Amino acid sequence: LPTRSQVDPGSLPAYACQRHTPLNHHNLCFTEALETLAEAAGFEGSQGRLISFRRAASVLRALPGPITNVSQLRGLPCFGDHSSRIVQELLEHGISSEVERVKQSERYQTMKLFTQIFGVGVKTADKWYREGLRTLEDLQGQTRKLNRQQEAGIRHFEDLSSSVWRHEADAIQRVVEEAVWQVLPGASVTLTGGFRRGKLQGHDVDFLITHPVEGQEAGLIPKVMGLLESQGLVLYQHTQSNHYQDFKDLEHKVSQSTAIDAYERCFSILWLPKSPTSFHPEAGEGPKEPSRDGKAVRVDLVVAPISQFAFALLGWTGSQHFERELRRFSRAEKQMLLNSHGLYHPEKESLPAASEEDIFTHLGLEYIAPEQRNA
Ligand code: ATP
Ligand code: MN
Ligand code: MN
Repeated sequence: LPTRSQVDPGSLPAYACQRHTPLNHHNLCFTEALETLAEAAGFEGSQGRLISFRRAASVLRALPGPITNVSQLRGLPCFGDHSSRIVQELLEHGISSEVERVKQSERYQTMKLFTQIFGVGVKTADKWYREGLRTLEDLQGQTRKLNRQQEAGIRHFEDLSSSVWRHEADAIQRVVEEAVWQVLPGASVTLTGGFRRGKLQGHDVDFLITHPVEGQEAGLIPKVMGLLESQGLVLYQHTQSNHYQDFKDLEHKVSQSTAIDAYERCFSILWLPKSPTSFHPEAGEGPKEPSRDGKAVRVDLVVAPISQFAFALLGWTGSQHFERELRRFSRAEKQMLLNSHGLYHPEKESLPAASEEDIFTHLGLEYIAPEQRNA
């Protein structure tokens, strides 16, 4: 039997959705370096390089033991010359000059800072960089450049850039559930995103909401947000109603297969008071003023009809790379189209799925539990 540190590359499948990828793994110093280069490539708009570095990092996360010799990389899927060179450099010197150069560059540091702001993507960050802006203070002096979302992102930057902990996610779940059940008894609220994959901290909290009776869930979010607002818990919100109609034709399904889905949703910043008791205002007491002692937290709410729930759950659990790989596998290996709404043969309706397991089965894949999707 091979020891844990021996790696048999022949046994590692090429797609991340065919592998078990735990949260904690054996190659952190390599994956951090490769993820930095992936991120930097993304800042330059090089999507291809971003994905190459990310795939290589993801392969290392799935290995049963640490890489201790560059020869172990031979035969690993998705490992190109550049990624191999970085690993070799780290093995020999404990540091990669290329990665250090990137991390210390003004460009990387500024792009990292700007894209960390809620509502700021690479395009906007790049535009600001080219205009000579470098710091949050620079942005605050130029408020006309900011939309409402970015303005909220900067106002709450300190809270939002610190991690959300699991117990805080649980506390927010109780508040959201309270509001959802008041508006629609029998609805369910499921924690998705990184926390469902077992992460202990995250950049936001993601919830998926549904109801056992198809159609009952429609229009839920405005009512829920209204309720939370009356409790003084909403610092920012942007609600979008669903637009399934856009998804009717296959062309739309294809173009949307890797992008944003069509569910009713809300991207928000909620106020989490320090004292958990202030989350349960007594009946008849009326809305409470938020105490100063607390924290702003990014919360995503998504509402799916029960018939699409399994697809929405799979799509919102991530990781982002795991999702990308699932969709690539469906397309390239099964000639099917997967998104957060369904799994489609060309020109056909979605295959039905009552659970995530059903979807893996349709694709001929071994079921991968959420805790093993940290690709
Ligand atoms: P973190 O701890 O940083 O929040 P995360 O894995 O939860 O990590 P998110 O950005 O919250 O990251 O995304 C969670 C999942 O939801 C991802 O798998 C992503 O594919 C999916 N997702 C995020 N935004 C959208 C969107 N606008 N439309 C569809 N799916 C999305
Ligand atoms: Mn998340
Ligand atoms: Mn999210």
